[in-house]
Amino acid sequence: TMTRSLGSRGSLCDEAADECDNINVVIRCRPLNDKERQRGDENNLIFPGEGQAWVNMDGMNGQLTQKPKVFTYNVVFEPEALQEDILEHSGVKRLLDMAIDGFSCTIFCYGQTGSGKTHTLTGPPHLFDKGPDMFSESHGLIFRSFVYLFNQLQNRDDQEFTLTASYLEIYNEKVIDLLNIGTNTKPLQVRWSKKKRGFFVENLFEIECAELDDLLAVLEEGLRNRAVASHNMNEYSSRSHTILTVNITSEQKADDGVNLTRNGKINFVDLAGSEMTKKTNSEGKTLEEANNINKSLMVLGTCIAALSDNRKRDGHIPYRDSKLTKLLADSLAGNGVTLMIACVSPAKSNISETINTLRYATRAKRIRTKPIIVMDPKEKVIMSLQREVSLLREENAHL
Ligand code: ADP
Ligand code: MG
Repeated sequence: TMTRSLGSRGSLCDEAADECDNINVVIRCRPLNDKERQRGDENNLIFPGEGQAWVNMDGMNGQLTQKPKVFTYNVVFEPEALQEDILEHSGVKRLLDMAIDGFSCTIFCYGQTGSGKTHTLTGPPHLFDKGPDMFSESHGLIFRSFVYLFNQLQNRDDQEFTLTASYLEIYNEKVIDLLNIGTNTKPLQVRWSKKKRGFFVENLFEIECAELDDLLAVLEEGLRNRAVASHNMNEYSSRSHTILTVNITSEQKADDGVNLTRNGKINFVDLAGSEMTKKTNSEGKTLEEANNINKSLMVLGTCIAALSDNRKRDGHIPYRDSKLTKLLADSLAGNGVTLMIACVSPAKSNISETINTLRYATRAKRIRTKPIIVMDPKEKVIMSLQREVSLLREENAHL
């Protein structure tokens, strides 16, 4: 059960307990760093509780002389929040449980470069120098989710699970396999599959993970290869998106011997820096112009805005316009659940980017879709027939 307040580490709004929402938005504010402190940068965010974040527009040492901008979210994590708090209080466990049950789930970190996206998902880079086994307080959400996932699977002895993992990067609309980096690796194609009823990446490595260590090895290998793929380009990591996916197939034997198969998954998405979309967000810019900056991030914003607008949500949602949105379409569109962790800096010098991120997060919060379990169509028919048979039996019994 959730506690109402995390003390100095954050707060939850009343709606945080509403577990039916298909997109939840939480905010994480990182601490001021040494550089910012040294140059006299001020703390411009105020956290009064109840899931609120106030932006102090004066920036005068915390004194408010004019009305602050007020934003409200499901959960707000303050700079003191621990890595553990993100797993415990942002609804991640519910998403992981749903992925086990056959839903498509996505957790993505959004925010400007340096706001703490990678820290939140992965933790500091040195963590994996000694191998992934050394547990530390600073391990990120991915590591913690893996541990939780395997614990949950062990509790379900009526089902058999097969887990596979993949790890890819999208840079400049090119998909690179982070588990298969070679000297002449060609970008992979995103295709649509009738059988999978969705988009998929052709020839992407999918590693079977029988144990926790296998999943951790995938994470470690991907992180190592990401550093290789970046060719020491400064802006590479801030302009690329990474998606680590865990596919969970479960087989459940029903009483009448018919197996029930479910295919759930969870995507962990470390997005490109949101400052890249600044130029394209202004009026009159077209998607074509965004091409060279960061098309995927731009289109994700358009999709989220359309999904959250009741008048538009039944109309055309442009998932097909970018690689990222194609690959996340099933989670965003209604087959699944999404958690957005919007990362912000508290520094006065970052105030306009912080407001951009808070606004983006507010728009995303209005998306409401109905999640469905991904099941084989044949099994759906079988299940409905079984239901009918048992209804008939019941009726017969009453005759
Ligand atoms: P991003 O991935 O959004 O560009 P990073 O996660 O790399 O940002 O964070 C930038 C720097 O700030 C890193 O040195 C990181 O360790 C530090 N940092 C980010 N968030 C936190 C936090 N919550 N607590 C402590 N340090 C943090
Ligand atoms: Mg990063």
